[in-house]
Amino acid sequence: MRASLIDLDGTLINGHSLRPRAKELLCRFEQFALVSNDSEHTPAQLANSLRELGLSISPEHILLAGASALEIIAKEHSGARVMLFGSTMLLQYGQDLGLHIVTHDPEIVLLARDRNFTYAKLAAASNAVRSGAALIVANPDVNHPGQHGDVVPETGALLAAVLACAGDVPYRVIGKPEPYLFERALNRLGIRPADAVMIGDNPLTDGVGAERLGIEYIDVNSAACANLLKAA
Ligand SMILES: [Mg+2]
Repeated sequence: MRASLIDLDGTLINGHSLRPRAKELLCRFEQFALVSNDSEHTPAQLANSLRELGLSISPEHILLAGASALEIIAKEHSGARVMLFGSTMLLQYGQDLGLHIVTHDPEIVLLARDRNFTYAKLAAASNAVRSGAALIVANPDVNHPGQHGDVVPETGALLAAVLACAGDVPYRVIGKPEPYLFERALNRLGIRPADAVMIGDNPLTDGVGAERLGIEYIDVNSAACANLLKAA
């Protein structure tokens, strides 16, 4: 069987629990990599949480939008001054990559999932990009489903606020459906798009992003995925 690139939320886990047959699904593939728009955790942290749920995935095979955004910035703009809106875990990750995390005069504004976003932060981000800082967004999702049918705000909602305030400034998205996470995952596994299948629950991010690169897409809730599990 070929390799799988696989989404996390709604595909492998729901909230804090493994989805039924998640492990079986992974066993159908010789190798796999996690491709997620998570913009709050580092790969090592997520590997730990997944291990507690009984899933063993090496951090090198976990591609997350927030952490990857920092890795890409560190590679393309070594030592850059970055105004980061995100978790303390990401902030530490950025510093470990040699980036200067600043509160004034940034070269780059990076929006990730910042649960402590405030009016003052909105002002700082908006004015920084109006003054010429490049705007990079970990993922474009505006929300994800909560436990009781409510919505949980995501990074795209913060982007909408910044654009509403700063005006129509250009920005670059790192997460799905953009190609970066998919390409990094293929690279880490050492495979070509034609040898991979993307399994996810969101046709607009998982599906569109994969198919643009020539990677087959299978929806986790589809008959095709059920057949995959049967074909053991
Ligand atoms: Mg998902």
